[in-house]
Order: sequence, then structure tokens, then C-alpha cells
Amino acid sequence: MVGTRVLRALAGRRIRNVAMSIRRNQTNAVSAGSHCIRNAMSIDVEDYFHVTALAGSVDRADWNRMEYRAESNTARLLEILADHGVCATFFVLGWVARRSPNLVREIHRAGHEVASHGMSHKLVFTQSHAEFSRETRDSKALLEDLIGEHVAGYRAATYSITHVSLWALDVIRDLGFQYDSSIFPIRHDLYGIPNAPLRPSLIRTPSGSTIVEFPLSTVDFLGIRMPVSGGGYFRLLPYWLTKAGLHKLNHELSEPFVFYLHPWEIDPGQPVIKVGLKSRLRHYTNLSVCEDRFQTLLRDFSFTTVKDVLSHRGFMENTNSKPPMPTYQSSKLKND
Ligand SMILES: [Zn+2]
Repeated sequence: MVGTRVLRALAGRRIRNVAMSIRRNQTNAVSAGSHCIRNAMSIDVEDYFHVTALAGSVDRADWNRMEYRAESNTARLLEILADHGVCATFFVLGWVARRSPNLVREIHRAGHEVASHGMSHKLVFTQSHAEFSRETRDSKALLEDLIGEHVAGYRAATYSITHVSLWALDVIRDLGFQYDSSIFPIRHDLYGIPNAPLRPSLIRTPSGSTIVEFPLSTVDFLGIRMPVSGGGYFRLLPYWLTKAGLHKLNHELSEPFVFYLHPWEIDPGQPVIKVGLKSRLRHYTNLSVCEDRFQTLLRDFSFTTVKDVLSHRGFMENTNSKPPMPTYQSSKLKND
């Protein structure tokens, strides 16, 4: 039934020939020049009703009864990434992995990196050490069982590793994750560590160990730190500003950035939940232009997985295995 919904969602959309996409991508890469820096593309796989900005109006107990759209929206993102020949890292929420195991397998089979977005989308600083440890371990085991491979990366719900929850880095490291990408070096009402490193770094945990951190990307314009790495900022800011910031990172600072998007951000048809003005602006602004804007971004910059960027920068063991060209056929989801 879920598969039928996915197929219906994709009906009418032309599934382009993957080989043609690869050729076009290779042509774009050449025309972009040999100085082209490869950046990390990441997708946080969750549904609209998991989002923290809407949490005050959505009861967790109702999640199972809400219209489920994460599968078809993620399928659309797989299709777009295949069209552009881009491999990405999918930080999959355990709740979604339990509901859509075939989706996780398809992300992996298509050549992308599967990483963890935790299990419940609870903010880390609202959880006890024991609760966070348990659910993070379970989310990793769930994904590893589905894909038959080690999961290296972790991203916390709503970037909720902050000054008060740095202890979580020790948990993540002890569970065998090789990198974290949860720290947003900005001031924000829900998250952020303004004085955190701005670029991929080996950071010290409270116990004295170390873990690789790929912080969410920001850039300084006229002394103002701008979050230019995706999500709501990508939809709220004009594209020329995002592009200028990312261009500065690549070409003036010679640094890679990590970009992030959620499947619900390309879904203007999602059910509208009544929330306050601030949450409404954050969640619903420019949903209808986001997919086109994302495709422009994929043409303007070069991308690969988080793991691949960190390996090439010497932060992780280089497996010498370049991510394959992504492929995707939506029909594979039909047996879920
Ligand atoms: Zn999330």
C-alpha cells in the first residue's frame, strides 16, 4: 500500500535515463573547472510531523495516525540526486526506518551513505544520559541490520548538541560512530554553540576523547554570521545570498560545506498544521520553490557524501572507494 502511494506520487514524472544523467553530470563537473571543491550533501529523513517547530501542535501519540509522506518525498529526492549524479548522506530517523525498512535499503542500494538521525527526534538536551544512549544505540543497530554495513555518522534532532549536552559526544563516540554533524555554530533560540569550530575538526569530548565534527556550515558577511547550509535558511534567504555564501566558502576560503535538506521541504502539498507565526514562517515559507532551488544548487556546486568529504580531508580512514554513481528506480519500493 505504501509502495502504491509512492508510485502514485511519482506517476507522471519522467524517470530520466540514468546513463544520460551521469554523462550530463560529468560534463558539468568538467565545465565547473578542476578547482571545484566537493561538498557534503545531507538529507535528514523525517516527516513534517516530526519537526520541532511544530511539536507544540502535534502529539507524539498521533504520529502513527498522521498522513505519512516521508517515503514518497524521500523517493523524489533519490530521483533528483540520481538525475544529477550526486551521492549524499541520508541521516535517517529510526522512526522512519522502522516504518519504511525498504526505503533505507533503497537509499543504500542507490549508492548513498546511510547515517543515523536518532530514533525519536527528541532533543538531546531533554533526554537523560541513559535514554539518549539507549535510543542512539538502537537507531544505529536498526540501520546496520537493514543495510548490512557499519554506520559511521550521526546527526542529532534539531542540532540539539549544545553547551549543555556535550556529554552526548562521548556517547556517540563510545557507540562506534566515527563522526558527528550536529553542532550549529550560531546563536538560535533552539540550538547552537556560537564559539564552536566553523569547519570540519577533531574536537575534544568532555571525557577527553576526540570525535570528528562536521559542523553545519556558516559564513561571515560584514561581520554577521550567516547560516547558509540549508533547511529553513535555504528557503527563507534569497538563493543569490545562499549561493554567494557557499561560493565564498569554496573559492575564497577553500573549504567544503555541508548542506542539509528534509524530504518535507520539497512537499508543498503536505497537511498544514496550525502553529504560531514564527513556526509557520520557519516551516511553510517557500516550500513550493524549494525543489527547483535545490536542483539549481546541485548544478551550481559539486557534492558527495559527508563520509567522502571527511575521508578526503584526512579526518577518516580513506577506503579508496569512491562513492558509486547513484541510481534509483522508484518501483523498487513496492514490496515494502
Ligand atoms: Zn530532524
